[in-house]
Amino acid sequence: MENVVVIGGGPAGLSAAIYLARAGLSPLVFAGSPPGGQLTLTSEVENFPGHDSILGPELIEKMRKQAQRFGAKIVDENVFKVDFSKRPFEVFAGPVVPFPPASAPLRIGGLRAVGIPSRHATRNSYLSKAIIIATGAKALWLNVPGEQELRGKGVSACATCDGFFFKDKVVAVVGGGDTAMEEALTLTKFAKKVYIIHRRDSFRASKIMQERVFANKKIEVIWNSVVKEILGNSKVEAIKVKSQNSKVRSESQKLEVDGVFVAIGHKPDTEIFARQVELDERGYVITTQRLAMELAKLKIKNEKIKITIPDEKLEKIVDKFDFDYQMTTSVSGVFAAGDCVDYLYRQAATASGMGVSAALEVERWLKNFKTD
Ligand code: NAP
Repeated sequence: MENVVVIGGGPAGLSAAIYLARAGLSPLVFAGSPPGGQLTLTSEVENFPGHDSILGPELIEKMRKQAQRFGAKIVDENVFKVDFSKRPFEVFAGPVVPFPPASAPLRIGGLRAVGIPSRHATRNSYLSKAIIIATGAKALWLNVPGEQELRGKGVSACATCDGFFFKDKVVAVVGGGDTAMEEALTLTKFAKKVYIIHRRDSFRASKIMQERVFANKKIEVIWNSVVKEILGNSKVEAIKVKSQNSKVRSESQKLEVDGVFVAIGHKPDTEIFARQVELDERGYVITTQRLAMELAKLKIKNEKIKITIPDEKLEKIVDKFDFDYQMTTSVSGVFAAGDCVDYLYRQAATASGMGVSAALEVERWLKNFKTD
């Protein structure tokens, strides 16, 4: 039986692994396949403390080596099922292979269904006393031509990370929620002009954020419009924007920009935990820290502060949480950290810090461990 299984090989999971390994707990880390999370898709990281500038994949590699040096076992496999209904907890993992495998005979007509559905080749099961969920989240993308090709070359989903590279440039933010407002406001510190392109004629963002956006002279909103294509060879040069307005439906406008920030939401990677631990409506794992914050909001009843878990749900789930810990989920012994919990900050450094907190809590929790 393992002391602790860490599910996720991004900054939250690996930071937890470093602390757990140094505490002599030999954590087993399922780092995913491909491993490393969102950072491996980033180029320069300039805001991780201690590094002036480091490539995302290099930062992850350093964290992996550091964890392994202290005795963490890192496996580049995906966890595809968990059972947290009894102790020890059970985790099922395996490598992902295309279905059918590349070695399968070709179908009539020479077509093999590679890359469409995938499946797990082996179904190994692992028992563990404690668990840390650190599976992260994925930014949602527009899926328009040029977007993936120009990621890291002007296309980004994080103004805090990449805004600095757009000093005195012109950028566009896509979306109409709080994230889009926040991204646009952040970008005004660097860029000379910021367009917000939104598909409707009103924002869904909170009033206060909208007011800040409307008051900022650098920001221009292009309403009722969608981005159809991102243009550029080695870097973003322009976008094609199409109006939703029926009178000019056929026209699309070319807008010269140096960067495009897609802010249309994130999706946490938590499907496999859906009936195991309490998730919020968007799929983020609820920890005691989040719950405590929401309970406090309920108590002070300030309409300017946004409630993110409805009070009926809060009342229903509150008894499942052990408030002696901050990072625990609704199942005692199952902890969570990083972007699968954090819908707000989503930084490598914040994920890392949450991973460390979860590891320290696991260490404390294991001292009183009992099987069912
Ligand atoms: P969100 O509220 O879901 O907003 C997503 C926005 O993107 C919406 O305006 C949506 O348009 C637009 N959109 C979605 N798919 C699109 C597509 N394919 N093409 C074009 N536009 C598309 O997401 P979010 O802004 O990331 O916020 C998520 C949550 O975090 C919210 O609860 C938010 O309040 C919270 N948050 C809070 C803060 C803060 O309090 N400071 C900061 C950031 C986020 P429609 O409006 O037409 O659907």
